[in-house]
Amino acid sequence: MKNGHCPMCNSMEVYSNPKAEFRAGTDFVDLEDEENEIYLIACVCKDCGFAAMFVEDLDDIKGLPKMKGWKRVG
Ligand SMILES: [Zn+2]
Repeated sequence: MKNGHCPMCNSMEVYSNPKAEFRAGTDFVDLEDEENEIYLIACVCKDCGFAAMFVEDLDDIKGLPKMKGWKRVG
């Protein structure tokens, strides 16, 4: 998705706006506490409407496996 390709419909009409705010009221996730949070960026497919969220800075989640409450899925 981040490379501009929609995994749902194979369209290349994928858009992202790092400055867009989410109507839900917050665009960050607290990892362990308020000092350790990540910002999310949405990628949206213009053709099918599929949307995915990505962490803005991958350095912020380097320590995720050791953080309290976070478990690997699957
Ligand atoms: Zn699509």
